Amino acid sequence: MSMGPASRSRPQRRAASAFGHADLVLRNGPVWCGRQEGLAEAVAIWQDRILAVGRDADIEPLIGPATRIVDLDGRLATPGLNDAHLHLVSLGLTMDWVDARPAAAPTLDALLSGIAARAALTQPGGWVLARGYDQTKLDVGRHPHRTELDRAAPDNPVMVVRTCGHVSICNSRALALAGIDTTTPVPLGSLVEQENGALTGLLAENARAPVWAVIPPPSEDEIVAAIERAGRHLLAFGITSCMDAAVGQRGGFGEIAAYHRARREGRLPVRTWLTLLGDPGRSIVPQCHEAGLVSGTGDDMLMIGAVKLFLDGSAGGRTAWMSEAYLGDDRTTGVQMMPDEDLDALVMDAHRKGYQLACHAIGDAAIEQLVTAYEHALAAVPDPDRRHRVEHSGFSTPEQHRRMVAAGIHPCPQQVFVYDFGDAYVSVLGPERGLRSYPFKTWFDLGLKPATGSDAPVCSPDPFPNLYAMMTRKTGKGTVMDAGERVSIEEALQAYTEFGAFSQKLEDRKGRLVPGQLADIAVFSRDLLTATPDDILDNTHCDLTLLGGKIVYDRLGIT
Ligand SMILES: [Zn+2]
Repeated sequence: MSMGPASRSRPQRRAASAFGHADLVLRNGPVWCGRQEGLAEAVAIWQDRILAVGRDADIEPLIGPATRIVDLDGRLATPGLNDAHLHLVSLGLTMDWVDARPAAAPTLDALLSGIAARAALTQPGGWVLARGYDQTKLDVGRHPHRTELDRAAPDNPVMVVRTCGHVSICNSRALALAGIDTTTPVPLGSLVEQENGALTGLLAENARAPVWAVIPPPSEDEIVAAIERAGRHLLAFGITSCMDAAVGQRGGFGEIAAYHRARREGRLPVRTWLTLLGDPGRSIVPQCHEAGLVSGTGDDMLMIGAVKLFLDGSAGGRTAWMSEAYLGDDRTTGVQMMPDEDLDALVMDAHRKGYQLACHAIGDAAIEQLVTAYEHALAAVPDPDRRHRVEHSGFSTPEQHRRMVAAGIHPCPQQVFVYDFGDAYVSVLGPERGLRSYPFKTWFDLGLKPATGSDAPVCSPDPFPNLYAMMTRKTGKGTVMDAGERVSIEEALQAYTEFGAFSQKLEDRKGRLVPGQLADIAVFSRDLLTATPDDILDNTHCDLTLLGGKIVYDRLGIT
């Protein structure tokens, strides 16, 4: 069901007498209800829904003796944020790994001592896993090397995953367990780096599959715990909805069972829209389809969303598939994951089965391949409102935008990539392509509805650098990435709320604070609408999070 003008003009208050009093009232705000809806002072909640919004005086009559009141005291309430692309299970699992992100390990020495320290706590032969380094931010300006990991952990297999999640460095024990040596064939969609006839330990994309195959998979208990841990982490940022961008990646079809169990046991903290991994050899789509799990199956807490295929890698890891070569190497255009015919067949099959698709494509060549496959599927089985998505869509071209508008295909970017990786894009692709990546304002102006998110654990789910990047187009180092692509705070919030819901075809239920929508609300420590981008980045917290009318996070413990 799509959001039409009729529902927009619904009265701002349900017939309150039918409900009695509100259960909860937030007042003395600003309350940002949505980009079209604008501002109110107060919001009344009944059960799990928005009952009314309006001026404090309008809401006053809905307050009864049992109504709980929260004084916003000038702080901003918004619809709960929707992180439209992250990896909830991976986020939860990797919260236990060695932290190799730039803040925790700015130097190669720090990274290696983190690994050595973990190895000391691990049985000989047990895996040491680390996550989050970025070679462009490490003091040495390069990837760690196999032999350095060997010295840090001589008795343990080690895998260090780059921040993008598409490149890993393994030590010799890990490579040996995976059966990878200098003679290993390297099929399409893979990279096994060698230097002077020896492995460096760097593996990209499909080449990492043999390593994942020998790492013991997480148990169902561990996956449920990961879902709960990661979900609670999201609530502390005001995020009440998310999309898990590749269900099945670690635990196969069992991840579906783990999600259902988490839900049953009250351990699913956030509304989660599941995107099913559909890649050849790892797909859980046949099992899901057989079990009747198609797009839209489920309820407001847990719903089957889309099908995901990976078409390329990451730009910072030089594996995003570009039409023109990366800097410094005339031949490298990134990694193409599959031939056109294979992609077309997989997209067509999922489309015919009624699935929405949400496929990973970053480089312009990958986006070209994906948009073409979507067009073929939509031509064969027309559907004016399927809303196939281009996940990331970093280097899409004007011609591709035109085709996306025509076919109703929407980009699902992560603007925090500009903040975290913008300088890396410029260094591997040059300023011409790098600075203009993730053209957010262009998409808005074309009428596309870009959602936003963090791709966590690729970036932190912290929404403040994401909002900052949308408003300023600045990287962490201060480089301005095409100021013409800046958007207003209202547009940034719309991407984080209404467009997140739109990307999941749920905009009739959530994403705005209007009567009848789910009472998912974030309260921030300052008024984002008047704050400077720097204050949003450095001096803002989420104070309170409501999900379905219940307070699920309370930073100050005041309620
Ligand atoms: Zn992702």
